[in-house]
Parts: sequence; structure tokens; C-alpha cells
Amino acid sequence: KKVILSGVQPSGKLTLGNYIGAINNWVSLQDEYDCYYFIADLHAITVPQEAAKLRRNSLEAIAQYIASGLDPEKNTIFIQSHVSAHVELAWILNSITYMGELNRMTQFKDKSKKSEANLNSALFTYPTLMAADILLYQADFVPVGDDQKQHLELARNLAQRFNNRYSETFKIPEPYISKVGARIMSLQEPTKKMSKSDENENAYIGMVDDPDSIFRKVKRAVTDSIGVVRYSDEQPGIKNLIDIYSKLSKKTVQEIETMYEGKGYGEFKNDLAEVIIESLRPVREKYNDLLKNKDYLENIYAQGANKAEAVARKTLRKVYKKVGFIPRK
Ligand code: ATP
Ligand code: MG
Repeated sequence: KKVILSGVQPSGKLTLGNYIGAINNWVSLQDEYDCYYFIADLHAITVPQEAAKLRRNSLEAIAQYIASGLDPEKNTIFIQSHVSAHVELAWILNSITYMGELNRMTQFKDKSKKSEANLNSALFTYPTLMAADILLYQADFVPVGDDQKQHLELARNLAQRFNNRYSETFKIPEPYISKVGARIMSLQEPTKKMSKSDENENAYIGMVDDPDSIFRKVKRAVTDSIGVVRYSDEQPGIKNLIDIYSKLSKKTVQEIETMYEGKGYGEFKNDLAEVIIESLRPVREKYNDLLKNKDYLENIYAQGANKAEAVARKTLRKVYKKVGFIPRK
């Protein structure tokens, strides 16, 4: 089986963007591929996190993976910090990564603008840790949203570079382009992507938000004064809402435009809220059940870490040897 790897940072509440752009697609891959899905807590601390919140977000994220339909029997679900090989390989990869490459990463530029008070070196080297995540498992495919394509390209370059410098070691990962994958935009600033780390809670819809807040956030979503439900770059707010509607209802953009011809934004938003609420309802219900059973969740991530660790260690051992480290014996 080909290997797939992906993850989400527990840097906040998982959003509708994470669901549509990532987790929901993972579910359809679990039968055909050998999948590793992890909670990227090491990545999360590249921006300041409160310890108790980080712990809670990590556990909740595991529950949301499973509630979305990921079967823990079919997938390896684990927490990144439980497998120390991620950090170890990241260090080695740092030694072959150029400052210039990292300087070009748009996520670093965006995130460093937001938190100038905390410009730490981990945020800068985030992409090498991400490369380590992928290369440790010899992943064939990495399903990522649009925003992570640049990082994946770096991972490919680093794999190639290491292979050239030492000898064939890493598989070169390919992006997994999903049919429905999209970039879901912020509800408040529709030219920015929806992000769980946004300070404005109205900018995103949480995967397990209750129906009332989903309704409220959709109603408050920024639109325009044009007043036509049309998929156009001049109407980024409406365009994003149509995208969400389409992704969740499987209706085409064209069908949606036709449905709302001559109708106002109010009616469109009411229906959209309903579509989101109903799509997420089973996820939220299962999630609430899972949270009552912490032992079950613990068991899943403990087993996941064991499985992941065995694979990761194997790669790391090879790497250490090639680099010239003396085996401990
Ligand atoms: P943060 O704001 O902390 O960076 P995030 O919402 O961007 O959080 P990540 O953990 O960085 O989430 O990304 C997890 C996965 O979700 C990645 O595969 C990413 O491409 C995807 N993703 C994130 N935001 C969106 C979005 N708005 N639309 C589609 N996919 C997204
Ligand atoms: Mg992100």
C-alpha cells in the first residue's frame, strides 16, 4: 500500500477549513492507503500556546479526527511529540536547509507579521520539521491544502538533496490533490484564509460549533453591497460562501447560482447555515460521545505512537548512519 501522511496543529479549535480542506478528504483515503494522521503539537508551539489549552486542543483534535470518520483500526493516529524522531530528523534536515529557502516561505512571512513580539526560530524552521514529518514515514502522498504546497515543495527538495549528498534514503513525496480540496476563506476578511488561530472567533466556524453559533457566524459573514448570489472575484465574501455551500452539499456552483437567482443574501445565508449545521451534526454528536471516553482516546493515541515510532526509527537509524554518527550499540 502507498503511504499517506498529514496532520493538523492543535493551535486552536479545528475549523470548517480544516474539515473541508483536510480531514474530510482523509476519510476517503483510509481504505486504499496506509495512512498516518497526527496532531502536530510540536508545530503548534511555533506560536505561543497556553499549556492547558494545548493539552485540551490536542485531545479534542484526536476526538474530531475519529468523529469525522477516521477509523483508528485502519489509520495510524498519533501525537507528534510522542515520536521524538520527528525532532531528531528535523535537526539533520536543518543542516542541509538554506536560510534563503526558509526566508522565502510565505507562511513564515504572514505569521511573523502577526506576532512580531514573538519571532522565534522555531517558526522560521517550521518547514524543516514538516519535511521531517513526511520523510520519516517514506510518504508517497501528502494531502495538504493550498497553503501548505510551498512547504511540501521544500520537503521534496530536501529529500532530493539528502539523497544526492549521501545516497538514496528518502522517498520523494507528491502532493495529493483532492477533487474537492479548496481554500476556505475567513468569514470576516474573505481575502485571507480561514485559520483556527484567528483572534476573531467570527472569522471561522468550528468543526464542532453548536448550531446557534454556526447560524450566528454565517449571518455575520462579510458580504458586499452588490446583492447578487454570484461566483465572482469581485464578491470574495459571497464567493467563499458559495464554495462552502457547494463543497458540503455537493451541488455545483452553477446550481447554487441558479437556486438563488433573484433572491437576497438573507435567504442564501439561512440555507447555507442549515447546510453547514446538518453536515457537521453527526461529527459533533460523535465527538461529544468520544470525549466522555478518555480511556478509549488514550488507547488510540498510545497505540498510534507505537506503530508510528517503529516506522520512524527505522528511517532515522539509516539517516544517522549515513550522516556519520556512530551507532550507540
Ligand atoms: P493555524 O492558523 O494555526 O495555522 P490552520 O487553520 O491554518 O491553523 P493547520 O493546522 O495549519 O490549520 O493546517 C491543517 C490542514 O488544514 C492543512 O492541510 C491545511 O492545508 C488545511 N487548511 C488549513 N486552513 C485551511 C483553509 N482555510 N481551507 C482549506 N484547508 C485548510
Ligand atoms: Mg496553518
